[in-house]
Amino acid sequence: MKLILLGAPGAGKGTLAKKLIDKYNIPQLSTGDMLRAAVKEGTELGKKAKSFMDSGALVPDQLVIDIIAERLKQKDCKNGFILDGFPRTIAQADALAKIGANDKSAKIDHVISLNVEDEVVVHRLAGRRTCRGCGAIFHVENLKPKVPGKCDSCNGELYQRDDDKEETIRNRLKTFNAQTKPLIEYYSKKNLLVNLDAEQDPDKIFEDAVGKLK
Ligand code: AMP
Repeated sequence: MKLILLGAPGAGKGTLAKKLIDKYNIPQLSTGDMLRAAVKEGTELGKKAKSFMDSGALVPDQLVIDIIAERLKQKDCKNGFILDGFPRTIAQADALAKIGANDKSAKIDHVISLNVEDEVVVHRLAGRRTCRGCGAIFHVENLKPKVPGKCDSCNGELYQRDDDKEETIRNRLKTFNAQTKPLIEYYSKKNLLVNLDAEQDPDKIFEDAVGKLK
């Protein structure tokens, strides 16, 4: 199963990906996670990406295309994968199609579009807290940790991502609507699109996804 998760920031791509990797036993490839790791480690890539990420803009296409092209070559992707947060532009989608044309094990089967209104995204993301240790996600109202500020799984510190501040969220939404939303039509034309209502409970979204992927 080779999947793309397409959706606004906060649509629930990461949450759905975690459930799908357990079900299908395939890796989740999140360009956002890879870039955050590069920023944390202070690598050349991280230095190039940081200012774009902090402002809610996209990092240049070639940077993420190169990361994904390398990652898709690894053995664990040969039976499938879930792309979370890639592609985000038509140029990235074209580059991915080229990789898939040369290597059948990278040819996409389905593109899941997680559909959600902008205001729902703002509420979700402004309250989102992420664990510094294991990356688990909580919400100040909807998914409170047992101990405030601490992760239920690893006891790590919960923090608010810089790009989860309201002004940056609005910029990320603008970026999504302008640069990534056109991919819905792009993949619809290729008959790969699966639409999901992403304002539902995460378990229901997962159930709908599995039903439609059969
Ligand atoms: P995410 O965690 O997927 O919301 O990604 C966080 C940030 O990383 C985004 O706001 C972008 O700045 C950057 N980023 C992640 N994936 C991509 C991509 N495919 N293309 C360009 N920038 C990306």
